[in-house]
Amino acid sequence: MRKKVIAGNWKMNKVLAEANQFIDDVKDKIPNNDNVEAIVCAPYVHLPSLVDKAKGTNVKVSAQNMHFEDNGAFTGEVSPVMLKDIGVTHVVLGHSERREYFAETDETVNKKVHAAFNHDLTPIVCVGETLEQREANETKALVGDQVKKALEGLSEAQVAKTIIAYEPIWAIGTGKTASSEDANEVCAHVREVVKEVTSEEIAEQVVIQYGGSVKPANVDELLAQSDIDGALVGGASLESESFLQLVEAGA
Ligand code: 13P
Repeated sequence: MRKKVIAGNWKMNKVLAEANQFIDDVKDKIPNNDNVEAIVCAPYVHLPSLVDKAKGTNVKVSAQNMHFEDNGAFTGEVSPVMLKDIGVTHVVLGHSERREYFAETDETVNKKVHAAFNHDLTPIVCVGETLEQREANETKALVGDQVKKALEGLSEAQVAKTIIAYEPIWAIGTGKTASSEDANEVCAHVREVVKEVTSEEIAEQVVIQYGGSVKPANVDELLAQSDIDGALVGGASLESESFLQLVEAGA
């Protein structure tokens, strides 16, 4: 059975003292079993401290982005080598906010996914449609295309390790969640697309998260769906209490 992966994407929130306090609050309360994995996706500047605090606990620490080159003249950027060096294990790639505000494209996402694997980081690749695209019935075609492009050129073993987060843009930070059936339908389609580009065996291993206004009140229903293997959570991951409730739901 696939494990559930609950990732809290803090986005651009928390100063260092708040970030540290969060890890102190949750680190001994994350269930120690193979059913669930808990990840905190924090701003770059907090990562060294959080990795240090999370050592020996069941909390994993993720970045929210990175560059695809190892080093060079890219002012303001952070490379996979740097993330690996400080002990980060995961990296969120292609979040819709990066695609919308920072010109992230399917092409750069694909380069970053390769870079992540080259440095033994697990990518959490985000895909999802706008409200306009949903209303035009383009969701599956668009999401399928994003998935294919993100995974292009990967080995089957790498695809199996990739975490894919389906986040409908209209459900992010809006309080509107996709119904669990609708979310599952798209996640099942993502798995179908993974099968097309690899095999059924690989597709069955891939962790597919749902994201978009996930909270303790709706997480059980979402996680009960056949193809939803976890959640990528923004707002409701900022408070340690509610993050713990979400992780408990996956355990
Ligand atoms: P919210 O949970 O705040 O809707 O954010 C979802 C998200 O974008 C996580 O990456």
